[in-house]
Amino acid sequence: MTSAKTTPRTLLVISAHAGDFVWRAGGAIALAAARGERAKVVCLSFGERGESAGAWRAGRTLDEIKAIRREEAENAAATLGAEIEFFDAGDYPLVETTELVDRLVGVYREAAPDVVLTHPLADPYNGDHPAAARMALQARVLAQAAGYDAPGEPLGAPPVFFFEPHQPEQCDFKPDVLLDITAVFDRKRKAMECLPAQQHMWDYYTDLAKRRGVQLRRNAGPNLGLPHDTMGEAYMRLYPQVTGVLE
Ligand SMILES: [Zn+2]
Repeated sequence: MTSAKTTPRTLLVISAHAGDFVWRAGGAIALAAARGERAKVVCLSFGERGESAGAWRAGRTLDEIKAIRREEAENAAATLGAEIEFFDAGDYPLVETTELVDRLVGVYREAAPDVVLTHPLADPYNGDHPAAARMALQARVLAQAAGYDAPGEPLGAPPVFFFEPHQPEQCDFKPDVLLDITAVFDRKRKAMECLPAQQHMWDYYTDLAKRRGVQLRRNAGPNLGLPHDTMGEAYMRLYPQVTGVLE
């Protein structure tokens, strides 16, 4: 399907905390950047309270931890080839406000994304994740309205993909898209290694990529028993796929 847009495609990733986009969507981001597309990440917070336990135990202050997590996330985004913007909205809890949603509308209007990635709407382990998703989705709808008072043109209807949560079964997450990230997995691993505050996640998300890669191959054709090194990321679509050909 051809696009009327003449500018490069844009991927927009909206995450609650500084590390979320790396574990869950680093492959998609690196693939977009490798194709020459624009990839933009919005971190609503630094994950300074809820996902920085080591730094708290080491006696760091809140401001020090925010600075550490910012630098880590900036390095990870640069490794993946993405721009990154921090809203510094606070975490644990991330509080939903009309101001944050309005800032996100501004991001949508400026970036005019072709694809949006965010958290699933359920996560009984971490309320910040669904809060980020709700704001991301509300802002997308508001950005579509011609009458919403924000700079830029009304947004089209970019598809929304939920990236994989840490406890997928408890978050009603059943993959319906498996993305082949083999070509960029080394880059994703390097980005993960930019986040020493969450070092326990590096091997976990490497193993997950292997498992999703096995499932990807199983769904791609008759290859049972054949050796392969496919790496994958799982996603769920929120809205129906639009197509002229069933595939
Ligand atoms: Zn998080």
